Amino acid sequence: MIKPHTQIKKVFIEKGSLQYPLAQKVLKNLGPVPVEIINDEEEVIEKYNLLKDPVGEGKKALLLKPLKGDFIKPCPCTPHYLGCNYYIINTDLNCPMDCTYCILQHYLDNPVMVSHVNTNDLWEQLDRFLYQHRSRFIRIGTGELGDSLALDDITERSKEFIAYFREKTRVNFELKTKTINTDNILCEKPADNIIIAWSLNTELMAKKEEKGAPAVKDRIEAAYEVQKKGFRVAFHFDPLILYRGWEQDYRDIIDRLFSRIDPSGIAWISIGSLRFPKPLKTLIRKRFPLSQIIYEEMVGGKDGKLRYFKPMRLKLYQDIVRDIRSCGGKGVPLYFCMESNEIWRKILNKEPGSKEEVEAFLSLLPRFKAT
Ligand code: SF4
Repeated sequence: MIKPHTQIKKVFIEKGSLQYPLAQKVLKNLGPVPVEIINDEEEVIEKYNLLKDPVGEGKKALLLKPLKGDFIKPCPCTPHYLGCNYYIINTDLNCPMDCTYCILQHYLDNPVMVSHVNTNDLWEQLDRFLYQHRSRFIRIGTGELGDSLALDDITERSKEFIAYFREKTRVNFELKTKTINTDNILCEKPADNIIIAWSLNTELMAKKEEKGAPAVKDRIEAAYEVQKKGFRVAFHFDPLILYRGWEQDYRDIIDRLFSRIDPSGIAWISIGSLRFPKPLKTLIRKRFPLSQIIYEEMVGGKDGKLRYFKPMRLKLYQDIVRDIRSCGGKGVPLYFCMESNEIWRKILNKEPGSKEEVEAFLSLLPRFKAT
């Protein structure tokens, strides 16, 4: 498997950023790649937005710059659906892989990958944030605006995050990935509150819709190694995609998952179905003319996003939850990402009512001890 960072063909550095140790580390780990010093990121954004495929071209470039604002934000979730009170850390934006359904194509106005190099500010902000929230449990992670491990070979952020959060026992910290870039993690000592998570799909959808991402069986093998090392793991069946034969294909993956992974060491499994804002449909059609995912019947949800009709979502969820439970995941906490109370009640027989209740349910104390 080719490491995702090897497709970086150009590095932009905002003036003054070379003083940051992370910028120097990235350049050293990347090896010989053309570097250009720029005054302002707008220069790069304008240049890439004029290209024929700004998103595709942006995945071959990396911008190193400090983040001037906040690293930590509440997960925006989606209006009118039930969230889980998750916080996101915006260290790296965008991703070298190229999933047809990726919302970042629409969401980020800068198509170039960005690594924020002012880690000194990150730790300060985290210290302050955790102090302000010291009376409650926090779930936080880096995998919302990019893949947590896609650039880890060059940034080595996972090591620093694990070292930082290891002692923060009232925090569950999650790294979420589709990659098998676990070399740095496998060198670290595990901690109960550090969770390494993988997004899973069927092998067919991974091959057709997740360009540049490893086969799902390889992701499961990476999770096996990480669990064997003693870390807790988690999985995200999201986005579930309807196509002819999905029932058996999802069943096969769930079967494989539980044949390799000890369910007692799974922190949670989230489930969500394909959804996207309407303008993304046009972009998917343009960038991925062979993709079929936009041709299934969809309806505008309360948040304005297109999603499958409710009876189809219910059928998808019923099957996935049944398969998870029957294949060995009976005691694993399951939750929905961006779904309604009604779906929770009908499928999981739970009605959390608020994001705080979802959070409380997912903040169960670890039950798994490394062997
Ligand atoms: S791996 Fe995640 S962040 Fe990267 S392209 Fe796919 S959906 Fe987007």
